[in-house]
Amino acid sequence: MVERRDVTARLSQLVMTVDEYERLMTEALPHLLNHATTQTRRFLRETGQWGDDVCHEKLALRWGYELVERFLMYGRTEIPCRPLFFLDSLIAKYFSQPEPFCYDKELLSPLGRFLEGLTSRAVISRDALMALFYHLYGFGQSQVAKVLGLGTTETQRVYKNFERWRRSGWQRAVDEVGITREDLMEIESHKRRYPDQFHAEADRLSRIVQAHYRKSEPEHFPCLSRQQWSHLFKEGYGYDYRVWHLALCRDCLSEVCDVHQDDSQDVLTPQLDLRIRPLLNGRLVESYHSVDH
Ligand SMILES: [Zn+2]
Repeated sequence: MVERRDVTARLSQLVMTVDEYERLMTEALPHLLNHATTQTRRFLRETGQWGDDVCHEKLALRWGYELVERFLMYGRTEIPCRPLFFLDSLIAKYFSQPEPFCYDKELLSPLGRFLEGLTSRAVISRDALMALFYHLYGFGQSQVAKVLGLGTTETQRVYKNFERWRRSGWQRAVDEVGITREDLMEIESHKRRYPDQFHAEADRLSRIVQAHYRKSEPEHFPCLSRQQWSHLFKEGYGYDYRVWHLALCRDCLSEVCDVHQDDSQDVLTPQLDLRIRPLLNGRLVESYHSVDH
């Protein structure tokens, strides 16, 4: 508690040098994030846009991140400054825009929440991460293995991921963001009735969500060039990086599919083809048995 007060107090004092600023930032990030998130929550409440559920919490957290990111980008150029005051002025400026959340509000639609649910789960669960390849692009087990350059043992692990996901993971991810049966039916009916519009919307929203969650794992965040991807596959390293980054970055996934294309007949396209529910009964089990026996 003493430490916390100490950091908060220092954030309100004048910082004179870049060194001092950098040192303070390494300690103070959680406080800044907390502060920005609290302010966002307050703004949403005061403007009648708040709802007491996990989606609004996530929205507040996402904007908290976003605001701290801006702060980190510009803070250094403001020295000497009082960091907390500078953050507050950024926040005030941001919320005084005519429609600060208009873009993000679409993420509160059933489709947006569905994508958010899948992706936020993927950050903490390997099953959900693997399942993204299926839900976003319709890739089955063998296609995932090919894209990621996996061997037999690892491929079987993917199957186990898919299987657990099918049994319980998907339901959990959907429940976590409060998606109801009616929401699912609404998404499915939208997909059935207006497929083009549905996929354009899913494409746009999933890019926003992916970009956000990619940042939660800084080590696996940067995109690689085509040459770097090619090298990584040829030399057989960076397994975690491949899985994590490719599940969350459409552009790199395209590059990688192109790289594989060069040495194979089969065409893989990472075109968004959103699947709402996990694989149909039996399909995956069948392909597993044919691989295994
Ligand atoms: Zn990338």
